[in-house]
Amino acid sequence: MDETVAPMRDKAQTQNHQKPDGWADAQESLAAASGLSLLLVEGHQPPALLVSNNNSICRAFQSSPDHVRLCDPFCGVAHEQALKAKGAVHYRCHAGLHCITMPVELDAKRQLAVIGGRAFLTSADYRALAERFRTGDLQDLLSEEIFQNVIFAARQDLDDLAHRIEETSRGLSAGKHTGKSETASPISQRESARDTKPVDAPANIVAGSAARDSSLEEQSFMQKADARSALLNNRYFQAESDFKEACNSALEVIAVKHKLNSLALLLRERSAFAPACSKGRFKDIKIHVEIGLKDARLFATAKAATSLILRETAEGFKPAGAIRKQGTGAPEKTAELFPLIVGDEVKAALLIADSELTDEKRRAISGYCREIALPLEVLRLRNELAQRARFTEHMQSFGERLNTTGGGDTYDAILHMSVDLLHAERGSLLLFDEASNELAVKAAVGPRAEVTREVRVRMGEGVAGAVLFEGRPRVVHDVESAGHTPAPAERSYKTKSFISYPITVGGRKVGVLNVTDKAGGGSYDDIDLSLIESIAPQMAMALDRADWQEKANQFQLMSITDPLTGLLNRRYLIERLAEELKRSKRQEYPMSFMMIDIDDFKLYNDHNGHPAGDLALEMAAQCLKSALRGADVASRYGGEEFCILLPQTSLAEAITIAERIRRRITRVRFPHGKSQPLGSMTVSIGVSAFSPGLETPQTIIEAADRALYLAKSRGKNRVETLEPPAAEEESNAAEEAG
Ligand code: GH3
Ligand code: MG
Ligand code: MG
Repeated sequence: MDETVAPMRDKAQTQNHQKPDGWADAQESLAAASGLSLLLVEGHQPPALLVSNNNSICRAFQSSPDHVRLCDPFCGVAHEQALKAKGAVHYRCHAGLHCITMPVELDAKRQLAVIGGRAFLTSADYRALAERFRTGDLQDLLSEEIFQNVIFAARQDLDDLAHRIEETSRGLSAGKHTGKSETASPISQRESARDTKPVDAPANIVAGSAARDSSLEEQSFMQKADARSALLNNRYFQAESDFKEACNSALEVIAVKHKLNSLALLLRERSAFAPACSKGRFKDIKIHVEIGLKDARLFATAKAATSLILRETAEGFKPAGAIRKQGTGAPEKTAELFPLIVGDEVKAALLIADSELTDEKRRAISGYCREIALPLEVLRLRNELAQRARFTEHMQSFGERLNTTGGGDTYDAILHMSVDLLHAERGSLLLFDEASNELAVKAAVGPRAEVTREVRVRMGEGVAGAVLFEGRPRVVHDVESAGHTPAPAERSYKTKSFISYPITVGGRKVGVLNVTDKAGGGSYDDIDLSLIESIAPQMAMALDRADWQEKANQFQLMSITDPLTGLLNRRYLIERLAEELKRSKRQEYPMSFMMIDIDDFKLYNDHNGHPAGDLALEMAAQCLKSALRGADVASRYGGEEFCILLPQTSLAEAITIAERIRRRITRVRFPHGKSQPLGSMTVSIGVSAFSPGLETPQTIIEAADRALYLAKSRGKNRVETLEPPAAEEESNAAEEAG
């Protein structure tokens, strides 16, 4: 099977029970073609007889003994429900996933059923569940695996699947396999399935089905009218036109045709109207209409082919009183509302605030609203479907990309993926540090990113600080009209719109993501916010992990560094020496080692005090660092002794370097250095190198130590080695050159 069709699906899992002939392949094909989950069940589930393309969320519930019981009243009893109904039954589970269950006749002796779907129909359902994982009752289930295969679909996809299941199982039991697997996308599936009669969908077994569920009347209406031809035949919309464009053109058409100046198209959003586009006096003002979407006056208005008169009050537009009867005198009014109804639901409304409309005009406008209601709704659904496809695609690639990054790269990866997703030209990612109560920028992209990286924000201050404090995101369309102080001119933002999003893990504040300067100059809206919300749970976990990784690295660093000089410590040196020796042996590389001891340091301490001694040690360490190459490892071995490991360095080269260090120390102006016995601060250095007799850390260190002793005994401020280097002349020449 083509892996690109459904890359994340489960392979059909085998249980102990015997499976009906041919069904395993057919089920896999159906799951791959629809992109939905499919399970064959014979009684309570889990375990199912066969599982294909399971939703990773369901997988997590079912592998948790504590949480699987949540599934019991839904998928657990799906088999029983299917047999009772003798047909397809839709239900929405505790996690907000939409499913169908139906009996299948694959074996005359057995009562089998299929559960299909396990998909989110709305992004609101997905968000609600993600929130439970992040901050609610499901926090202990939160893991990266949960997001590996989250399925989104339209209700129609489930109906199509039910139809396919029926067709395939009937074919199998009749001895011929009719499962089709060539089509991959639910949309193309739906298109090809449109000419076939949909399976009856009896009443839901669970109350409160998804908010976007269409009523039965609407469904049959939509099934009868082929959505595509409705779009193509409509003179105002093209099939490919974007939903927002369609809203704008609908408004434009009515304005021109009826010579209207001030009007707005309001869309149903959850339980209220929200403006999609507006003209004239409605432009750039907040429009709030105080009327429930189920209000009988809206339906009566549409039926009477007239408008609902609204009065403008401080709280918004309110119905003025009884519905205007055609031909009666006009009461006081400031706006007229024309509902757009599909089936038995108000989907949108046209708000007009022009001078008195005539009854004739009202009839014409009402007719226009009736005409555009369905094509507009179809476009909206298509748009939402496209958004959902984008969600799924982004969530998967986001998860995959995060898994391949680690540590500090995670910050950059998260920010880059977020700005890509939101078409932002600028963005920043800030992490909250509980100890300092501050947000620090961990990654920034766009102009002035360098400056942004320095920024720190106190909790509660500025937009990011406030967003984190309140725990609520801000989607700002226009900085000025939203009451924010405009950014200083030197920041040169291209747009006035931004999103600031708080990132939390289990109620703990982790950081803030900011995006702005949308490519093309548009402003951010709730769809963009939904996109961030779709990746927020993974983002939060990856950030949390990166934060711990950073802390672990810091602790590890602390355990191997010397606090006074910042050089590596003795423990690290010995481990590293063993490692380098192995490499030298394997690759036959040279390797050298030196031990450096400050001359007459006891005297220096005695004369100038311990704090002056500490400062001198820091200065000496600094001098060593500056004399070394990147690959060399400098460490404080103890007291006033330092060791240096020089990988891939011959004894002769090491002696040259040692000489350079020795000379540099004499030139550094240590406080009170002149009062040292040799007229300045000096060091003695013993050098050793990896050779047939010196192959262990212990023997190399001992050899350097003995050479150091030799240097001390020969008058200090000297470099010595036990063995003369292979080519003494070479060393001398190098020394002169150095
Ligand atoms: P030599 O030239 O033979 O090396 O003589 P020395 O005085 O340097 O050697 P000795 O081993 O007698 O003394 C080392 C001194 O280094 C002793 C101690 O006071 C000083 N010392 C060791 N660690 C520290 C430190 O962390 N801070 C300070 N200020 N002094 C230290
Ligand atoms: Mg010493
Ligand atoms: Mg000493």
